[in-house]
Amino acid sequence: MGQTVTITYLLNSGYLVEGDGWTLVFDDYQDPPGAVEQALARGGRCFFFVSHAHFDHFSPEIRRFADRTERYILSDDIKGLAEGRRFPADKTVWLGKYDGWEGEGIKVTSFDSTDQGTSFLVEIGGWRIFHAGDFNWWHWYDESDEDNKLAKNGFMKQMKKLDGLDADLAFFPADGRLWDARSLGPKEFCRRTAVKALATMHSVGYPRWQPEPDFFAPGREIPVWAPDTPGERRTLTQGGEFTS
Ligand SMILES: [Zn+2]
Repeated sequence: MGQTVTITYLLNSGYLVEGDGWTLVFDDYQDPPGAVEQALARGGRCFFFVSHAHFDHFSPEIRRFADRTERYILSDDIKGLAEGRRFPADKTVWLGKYDGWEGEGIKVTSFDSTDQGTSFLVEIGGWRIFHAGDFNWWHWYDESDEDNKLAKNGFMKQMKKLDGLDADLAFFPADGRLWDARSLGPKEFCRRTAVKALATMHSVGYPRWQPEPDFFAPGREIPVWAPDTPGERRTLTQGGEFTS
């Protein structure tokens, strides 16, 4: 048996990951079940991550946990907001694109996004966890072919930096607003990386995502979790399945 983590869906791209003595919180803009408060009450070292300043990813309210937080690891576009600059300087790490930070048993590497801010690769407790932020292949049906081509090019360019990425778990958008194109980004991402489990995000109000029959490359199927209700929780065994 490998190690396990417990993962709780907060809302939109918000996720909580609890390992052995550590807690990671990603893009907690709203937490209807109060899962973060409960996790902090259980103790352990807590790290908050925010991929960018958009309202559906960043809430200044996370500052209220400062006394129980080791570090806020924030995309540096948040520094442009007055609310962003109020985070305690001694506990805040600002990351640009292709940046990194290491300390206290955690290593963070940032990548570019195809929207605003960054995506993150976090290494902690023997786990490698990727959170895409708003990095995705944003193909919109109501935009011109030219704009969609630019979006695709930007995505493919960034994917080159992620080719072969090895991670135990990846959080990636499968956005219902993209309709039939909602799987383009996560499909390409899963096919070109070596991620071992996928949890989807950024699809509030749309039916639960499911991988299409050709989503995975043959023989490369991995466990998938597409929560749609805040507070949904799974345990993931390293190299294994999501279980409830
Ligand atoms: Zn977003």
